[in-house]
Amino acid sequence: MRVLILGGTTEASAIARALADDRRFNPVLSLAGRTRSPAKPPIPWRVGGFGGVAGLTDYLQREGMQALIDATHPFAARMKANAAQVAIPRVVVLRPAWLAQPGDDWSLVPNMQAAAEALGHRPRQVFLTVGQGELAVFGPPHRYLVRSVDPPPDAPVGATIITARGPFTEGDDRALMQSHAIDTLVTKNSGGSAVASKLAAARALGVRVIMVDRPPPPAGVVVRDAAGALAWLHAQAALRGV
Ligand code: NAP
Repeated sequence: MRVLILGGTTEASAIARALADDRRFNPVLSLAGRTRSPAKPPIPWRVGGFGGVAGLTDYLQREGMQALIDATHPFAARMKANAAQVAIPRVVVLRPAWLAQPGDDWSLVPNMQAAAEALGHRPRQVFLTVGQGELAVFGPPHRYLVRSVDPPPDAPVGATIITARGPFTEGDDRALMQSHAIDTLVTKNSGGSAVASKLAAARALGVRVIMVDRPPPPAGVVVRDAAGALAWLHAQAALRGV
């Protein structure tokens, strides 16, 4: 059975690993191409946009795809919206959002512009973990520590840049925040355990968190993890007698 996995997440990688040795499936992993040197997938893969809904529809037909697993990041709203418009059985993998715990000091904001505004006018030491392409809204009078996988082209002037790929431990993040005297963390509510270390570190250090809320989920079948997507796929295969 031909399956397209829209990837770029740990869930997509886990699904790809699970399907690599399953002879019932003939999967392809699709990556947007945002990371310079992604880990080599264990199944056939392609890189780059499809060209909107029309391009995606053409690709699915050309490749004879029979099922689509949308395992893109919770904030990849455009890709999710495009995938929701094509006529093919589809499941969306959406890991649960993080929830504030006792001891957390969170300010919830709807988008990155609101996050920048929430910093206020008093100079802050800010840890930005929001990904590339979204840093342009941040500026004076604050000082910024930016962590991302590749060097960001849009970092605020004078920012300290750390290029690193997770997972990080709470200890790593606590040491990093302490050494840079961080008083505010800005992050998107990506969810997942891989990056919750920074939230635990912020809680332990009494660092304020400005949390950017997720875009609304797309319509259709939504599961919370790779296991849910695989169960859905197995059911689709059974329906086809695969
Ligand atoms: P986006 O804004 O929803 O997507 C923008 C465009 O990039 C899409 O319209 C599509 O181009 C292309 N695209 C996105 N994901 C793709 C995929 N898996 N395969 C092929 N083309 C893809 O998404 P984004 O925020 O740029 O995210 C891009 C990728 O990075 C996703 O795979 C996502 O899982 C990953 N990621 C995103 C974030 C985040 O915070 N946004 C964080 C970590 C990882 P066409 O319209 O031309 O098809």
